[in-house]
Amino acid sequence: MSVRTHRAGDISEEALRAEIVRTCLRMLELGINQGTSGNVSVRSGDRFLITPSGILYEKMMPDQIALMDADGKYFGPCKPTTEWRIHRGVMRARSDAGVVIHTHSMFATTIACLRRAIPALHYYVAVGGGPTIRCAEYATYGTQELADNVLTALLERDACLLANHGLVVIGSTLSETLRRTFDIEILARQYVYALQIGEPCILPDDEVERVRLKMKTYGTQQADDPGLVRLDAPAG
Ligand SMILES: [Zn+2]
Repeated sequence: MSVRTHRAGDISEEALRAEIVRTCLRMLELGINQGTSGNVSVRSGDRFLITPSGILYEKMMPDQIALMDADGKYFGPCKPTTEWRIHRGVMRARSDAGVVIHTHSMFATTIACLRRAIPALHYYVAVGGGPTIRCAEYATYGTQELADNVLTALLERDACLLANHGLVVIGSTLSETLRRTFDIEILARQYVYALQIGEPCILPDDEVERVRLKMKTYGTQQADDPGLVRLDAPAG
């Protein structure tokens, strides 16, 4: 995956705070947030910005977003989300992650309540970084045990379910991670619907890997598609 992350000097902290608020509002519009359950963090230099605890996204102001360091110390007028240990764990262990989004979105959480992984029923499972989106083992919300379980389930992946709880998605930028979160929620919905009718056919691991590599160059397909020819001017 792309290694572009938000670094100090790359984009100002003030601009990041505004972008986090916009992302949270977009989560509401997309229907992937339930009440105050969702939370978002973004790396900013050696620290990370993280959404506050118990404040509705519609009312959240940029200066209410906490700035936190790797030791769990935070700065700002509001306490960070109760799931700050998940965000800190990812920021410490995954240098490729610039953003963490956690939600209780309806269909991903429905699968998580069955403690099932999402299998490769659709090639889009590759947006999660591999042939399955695993389900992290259950632990009480807000605990270090849950944060550790999430890291285990995220091994070589960019997303995982949390048993009887929800979904965690990581990425390099807010826009990429929001898109990935939405795509996985749609995938979870397709899995729930498919299970109403029967057992979906599952793609083999090597096909998902082929798709994952192809998606990395999405938008520049012309280079690897010999059947696609761009003309300088309309023919004829
Ligand atoms: Zn949660």
